[in-house]
Amino acid sequence: MKFRSAAVTLAISTSFMAFGAMADTVGISMPTKSSARWISDGNSMVEQFQAAGYDTDLQYAEDDIPNQLAQIENMITKGVDVLVIAAIDGTTLSNALENAAAADIKIIAYDRLIRDSGDVSYYATFDNFQVGVQQATSLVDGLNERFADQKPWNVELFGGSPDDNNAYFFYDGAMSVLQPLIDAGDIVIASGQQGMDRVGTLRWDGAVAQARMDNLLSANYTDKQVHGVLSPYDGLSIGILSSLKGVGYGSGDMPMPIVTGQDAEVPSVKSILAGEQYSTVFKDTRELARVTVGMVDAMLKGGEPEINDTETYHNGVKVVPSYLLEPVSVDASNWESVLIESGYYTRDQIE
Ligand code: BGC
Repeated sequence: MKFRSAAVTLAISTSFMAFGAMADTVGISMPTKSSARWISDGNSMVEQFQAAGYDTDLQYAEDDIPNQLAQIENMITKGVDVLVIAAIDGTTLSNALENAAAADIKIIAYDRLIRDSGDVSYYATFDNFQVGVQQATSLVDGLNERFADQKPWNVELFGGSPDDNNAYFFYDGAMSVLQPLIDAGDIVIASGQQGMDRVGTLRWDGAVAQARMDNLLSANYTDKQVHGVLSPYDGLSIGILSSLKGVGYGSGDMPMPIVTGQDAEVPSVKSILAGEQYSTVFKDTRELARVTVGMVDAMLKGGEPEINDTETYHNGVKVVPSYLLEPVSVDASNWESVLIESGYYTRDQIE
C-alpha cells in the first residue's frame, strides 16, 4: 500500500513538473453582449490574461441582475482566484462579494464602480467625469458650428442608467460645461427636464431613449426646433437619432441636431461619417484590459498595482484605489487617426 501511494505521489509530482504549477483563474463578469464595447472588453481581457499565463472564465449576464449574481456565485463556488466585474447594478453584489472575500478571492471593479462593498480591492476605469466634459464640449462645439446664429440653443439632456455609478459622473461632467451656458441663457432646456432623476435611462436602453425623445419632441417641439441632444452612450444616440429622423430632422430645411455619444461603436462611427451623429467618446478597451491584467498580476504576485487616483471613487464604504485612463473625443475630423491608425478598427469595418 505504502509503495503504491508513493508511486501515485511520484506520478502526480512528475506531472506537476511536466506542466508547471496550475495557472490561476480569473473570473470575468461582463454586463451584456448587446453592446459591442463589452465584447471588446471581454475579448481583450481573455487574450491578455492568457498571454500573461492565467486561465479565464468569461461570462456575460445579458443585463439581467439575478443572472450576473448567479454567474458570480458560480465562479466563487468553482474557486476562481480573482473576480473582475463590470456590474449591471453596482449596488447589488455586496453579499456575493463577502463570500468571495471570505474565500480569499480578490475583487476588481472593472469600468463601473461596485458600490456598498468593502471587499473591492481596486477599480480600473476611465476618467468618467472627463467623459461627460468631452461630450458637452463637443455638443457646444457642434452648436457653434451648425447653429451659430440661432442662440439660444434648444437642447435636451439624456443620462445613463441610474444604477450605474458612471452615469452620474458622465452627467456631472457634462453639466459642469452646460450649466453655465444654461444660466447665461445661451442654452434652453425646453422640456425643463434636468437632473439624473429625470433624464436617466434605465439599463442604457436605446429603445427607452427613443421613446423619451419621441415624447420630448411631441410635447415641446411642435413650434420650435431642437438644436442639440446630450446623449451619454452610442446605443442611446442611435435611438435618439431615429426619433429625430422620424419627425423630419436631417432632411429638407430641418438640420440634424448635434447628438453626442460614447464608446465609438461601429454604427455610431458610420452615423458620424453620414453626418447624423455628431461625436462619440472613444475609450480604448485594450488599454483598460492592460491596466486590469497589471492589477491582477501585481495582487497575485505580491506587488503594488499601479494606481493614479485615491480620492474620487468612494463606494459608500471606502475610497477604492483606482486607475483612470483618458477618454478621447471623436468626430468627423479625427476618427481616422484615433480609431483606424490605432488599429482599433479596420477601415473595412467602418466604410
Ligand atoms: C460605460 C460606458 C457605456 C455604458 C453603457 C458605462 O458604464 O462606462 O462606456 O457606454 O456603460 O454600456
